[in-house]
Amino acid sequence: MIKYNLLCNKCDLIFDSWFASSKEYDKLKKKKLINCHSCGSLKVEKNLMAPKFVNKISSKKNEKMSLQKYQKIKETIYEYQKFIKSNFNYVGENFAYEARSIHYDNKKIDKGIYGTASKKDLKELKEEGIDARMIPWVKNENN
Ligand SMILES: [Zn+2]
Repeated sequence: MIKYNLLCNKCDLIFDSWFASSKEYDKLKKKKLINCHSCGSLKVEKNLMAPKFVNKISSKKNEKMSLQKYQKIKETIYEYQKFIKSNFNYVGENFAYEARSIHYDNKKIDKGIYGTASKKDLKELKEEGIDARMIPWVKNENN
């Protein structure tokens, strides 16, 4: 058995069809026994561009899917940011300093802090036993 991807030249339908062999395909074609599943046209031929064509479709689909995924992640981050903004104090670039003063001076705080820190800062804070973590942050118009 052999599967051919067939293209209808009349209505552009692309469909798969099974044949016993390529010879059988030729025979059926000659006898005009191969016709379009949709419009019945006999102007059907092997679709040699099939793999490329299929790839094109699936990559477009992937693009759309990853865009939706990205949008979803972005929304989650926005929610996260909203939560942090209302529950944490923003300390900006002083994050490492503030985190240390809370940790070492037992500074009483009713809110956590957030701000910007370098990867090096975070690593050092972690080594000092200070719980700081990196979260993804996206800029929005309100920032
Ligand atoms: Zn057709």
